[in-house]
Amino acid sequence: MQPKYVIITGGVISGLGKGICTASIGKILQSYGFSVTAIKIDPYLNLDAGTMRPTEHGEVWVTKDGGEIDQDLGHYERFLNIDIPSSHNITTGQVYKKVIDNERRGDYLGKTVQLIPHVTNEIKRRIREPKDTDFVLVEVGGTVGDYENILFMEAIRQMKYEKEKVVSVHVAYVPVPEHLGEAKTKPTQHSIKELMGMGINPDFIVCRSEKPLDDERRNKITKFCNVKPDNIISDHNIDNIYEVPLLFEQQKFGEKILKNLNLKPRKTDLKEWKNYIENIKKIEKEAKIGIVGKYFDIGTSTLTDSYISVIEAVKHACWNNNLKPNIKWIDSKIFEKNPEKISILSDMDAVIVPGGFGKSGIEGKISAIKYARENDIPYLGLCLGMQLAVIEYARNVCGLKNANSTEFDKETKYPVIALLYEQTEKLREIGYGATMRLGAYPAILKEGTLIRKLYGKEKVSERHRHRYEVNPKYIEILEKNGLVFSGKSPDRILMEFMELPDHKCFLGTQAHPEFTSRFMHPNPLFDGLIKSLY
Ligand code: GLN
Repeated sequence: MQPKYVIITGGVISGLGKGICTASIGKILQSYGFSVTAIKIDPYLNLDAGTMRPTEHGEVWVTKDGGEIDQDLGHYERFLNIDIPSSHNITTGQVYKKVIDNERRGDYLGKTVQLIPHVTNEIKRRIREPKDTDFVLVEVGGTVGDYENILFMEAIRQMKYEKEKVVSVHVAYVPVPEHLGEAKTKPTQHSIKELMGMGINPDFIVCRSEKPLDDERRNKITKFCNVKPDNIISDHNIDNIYEVPLLFEQQKFGEKILKNLNLKPRKTDLKEWKNYIENIKKIEKEAKIGIVGKYFDIGTSTLTDSYISVIEAVKHACWNNNLKPNIKWIDSKIFEKNPEKISILSDMDAVIVPGGFGKSGIEGKISAIKYARENDIPYLGLCLGMQLAVIEYARNVCGLKNANSTEFDKETKYPVIALLYEQTEKLREIGYGATMRLGAYPAILKEGTLIRKLYGKEKVSERHRHRYEVNPKYIEILEKNGLVFSGKSPDRILMEFMELPDHKCFLGTQAHPEFTSRFMHPNPLFDGLIKSLY
C-alpha cells in the first residue's frame, strides 16, 4: 500500500497544540474508514527524549516497544486508540547518527557526504518506513524559520516535488492582543512567507486563536498566502481538546483533505465520539484529585506538562464515571517545609503520587501517602508512587525504621526498594543511560484481589520506565503485615502491582498505566480509583 502523507508544520510560536491538531486530523480520517498512523519529528540532537529533564521538555512518553519519546506521541495514541512504535519519533540526532554510521561503513562509496541529498534522503527513508497504512501524519516539531528544522522542511519539499501524495498543513497563530481586542494576521502571513521561501506552499492553514476566525481575516490571509478561504481552518480556543476533531469536522476539514487527494470518505462514524463529548458537557458533579508531584517549577510558572499523561488518564476515568475532574497540583516539598499543611489532603477525593526520579520531594510524598492510608483516602501510586507506598508501609506498619530505596539512601538499613542484582551489574557496565526497564511487560494478577477485578483478567501488560524494584528480601514481611502484591512478573520475581485490602481503595503499580489510557477507554486502575469515590 502506498500511504498518503499529511505533513503538519507550525509557525509563529511553539506550544500551539500542533500535536492535538495532528491527532484530530488523524481521528477524522480514521472515522472516514482509513487506517492512520503518525510520526513526530523532533529537530533536537538528542537521540531520544529519555535523558531530558521533565521540567525541560515535559513528560517523556514511553511506547509499548520501550521507546522514550516525545509526549505528542501520547496525544496520537489517546486520540487514535492505536499503539505507535518508537521508530515514529525521528530526531536530528538519530538521522545524523545513521548517516555518519553509513559513511563509516563505506555505504556512500567514496562520495562526499552532504546534508542534501544524504541527510534529506535519510529523513525521507524514515518518513516512508510505515507502509501498511492509508495515511501517515507527520508532525514537524519547532516553528518554521528555526535553524533546526530546515532539513526536515527540505525533505518535505522534495517529497511534494517527487509527486508523492502529500498534503501540507501549516498551523499558525492569530493573536488577539488584549489592548486591541482584534485578531491580527500578520504573524501568520510572515510564517507562510517563510514556509514558501523553503519551497512549500501549504494546502491548508490552521489558525490557532483565542477567537473564531472571521471572514475578514480569512480573506486577508488568502490574499497574502495563496490559500483559498475554504482551506483556512479556524482552530480557536475550546474547553476540551477532544473536541478539536468536531471543530474541524464542522468546517469539513477532513473532506477537504481527501478532496485534495481525490479521495472520498469510505464511511463516517464520529458519532460516538460526539455523543461522548456532549455527555461530558453535561457533567456537573466534581471529583477533586490531588496529584502530589515534584516537577512543577520552571522560573515563575508551573509546568503541568511533566504529568500530561497522568492528567489525561484522570480525565478519561472521571468522564467515564460521569464526574468532572478537578485536579489539584500539590508540590510535595511543601509538606517537608510545613508538615501541618498535610491536612489539605483531607479535602481531596483521591490522591495520586506519580512517577519521578531522585531524592527531592520524596519525604513529602511519603507523608502524603501515610495521610491517605491512615485517613482512608483513595490512593493510586504510579511507579515511584508505588515504591514510596511500600517504603511508607515498611516504616510505619512493619516497623522497619527508616526503610528506604537505595535510590535515595544508599546506606539504608532496610532497602525495601533496590536495584536487583542484574541491574546493578548493568549499571556498572554501561553507566546510567539505557539501563531502565522500559516498555510493556506482562504481569500475572492474583485471584481475589481488587486489581484483578478491575482488569477483569489474569494476564495484563503495562508500560514501564524505572530502574528500581521491590526488594524480594522484604516481600514476606510486607505481606505478613497486610500489604498484598496483587500482580507479579510471570517468573514471580518482580512485584508489579500492590494493594491494601483493608483500605477503601489503595492501589500501586510499578508500571505507568497512564500510558495506556485513552479517550473513551480509561485505564482500569484509574477507572477503579475513580469508581471508589462513589
Ligand atoms: N526512580 C524510580 C526508579 O527508577 C521510579 C521511576 C519512575 O517513577 N518512573 O525505579
